[in-house]
Amino acid sequence: MEKRTLGRSGLEVSVVGLGCNNFGGMKASLDLEGARAVVFAALDAGITLFDTSDSYGIAGGSEITLAAALGDKRKDIVLATKFASPLNRDRDSRYNGSRGYIMKAVEDSLSRLKTDWIDLYQYHFPDPRTPIEETLRALDDLVKQGKVRYIGCSNLPGWQLVDAAWTSRHHGLHRFVSTQAELSLLARGAEKDLVPAIAAANMSLLPYFPLASGLLTGKYRKGAALPADSRMAMPYFQRGMTDQRLDTVERLIAFAEARGRSVLELAMSWLVGRPAVGSVIAGATRPEQVRANAASVGWVLTAEELAEVDAITGS
Ligand code: NAP
Repeated sequence: MEKRTLGRSGLEVSVVGLGCNNFGGMKASLDLEGARAVVFAALDAGITLFDTSDSYGIAGGSEITLAAALGDKRKDIVLATKFASPLNRDRDSRYNGSRGYIMKAVEDSLSRLKTDWIDLYQYHFPDPRTPIEETLRALDDLVKQGKVRYIGCSNLPGWQLVDAAWTSRHHGLHRFVSTQAELSLLARGAEKDLVPAIAAANMSLLPYFPLASGLLTGKYRKGAALPADSRMAMPYFQRGMTDQRLDTVERLIAFAEARGRSVLELAMSWLVGRPAVGSVIAGATRPEQVRANAASVGWVLTAEELAEVDAITGS
């Protein structure tokens, strides 16, 4: 498995990561046994980056389940989690990046994760009320205390990424090495402004929803019944499965199959080849999915192939 460093840092991660937002939650999510099977398949495939959040699952259920599934293996991996989404919203902004909030959130995550340190601590959503300097200073203190090794962010607009990078540099604070944003063959909006801002801020991108919740795995076909036990079989997710998206998927499947490849290989390899991408944090509900995802990044698309993909995806 190829490794990449994030931003301008020594933090090395596998180019395919494991997204853990489906651990420890409602009925459709993975319990400990299911999570353990997925986590060990990921470790066996050479995946080192595991991404969770204090807000995934029920009452920190994703962090708790991931820690229990990893056991002793925790020391061998890059553990990434997030803060900023209070369960009880007692102020008028939905997200919280204030010093007081961060100091409590990190202790709660460390306790749920059963660890003394977090490898990558990410600011999940921007809090419009807290100046970025306050958030960065609090995170800088956590790095100095050894509770956190690197800091990252998520869902920040491009201007704020560059502002955060400049603020860190100006004040001599630790910098965000990465950011998360949605990017896939079915959601390319980040490419216009955000990806250039990520490069300008010397960060790496961890694209989320890389498989468009499974639409880009080839298991959903236009006119065919939805596979049972799949995410799209849940009504909440079906709004992401428009006719237009299914048409695009059919064209991507034909494009990949004409070259002896799968649409999964296309979706993952295309992302790995995008500027600034550090690791593709795909989620999985079964060990065979992780194995397939880990093995899907070997296709280096030619300029002609990339142009054809642009034509299909309308970018
Ligand atoms: P995703 O990676 O696009 O889709 C994952 C889902 O697709 C799996 O749970 C599985 O669902 C299906 N799947 C995956 N591999 C497959 C394969 N090889 N064959 C068939 N089906 C397959 O979406 P995601 O997991 O929601 O997002 C990835 C990660 O990004 C999350 O886990 C989380 O860590 C992160 N994230 C971050 C943010 C943020 O705001 N920063 C937001 C969203 C997500 P089924 O088996 O149930 O069909």
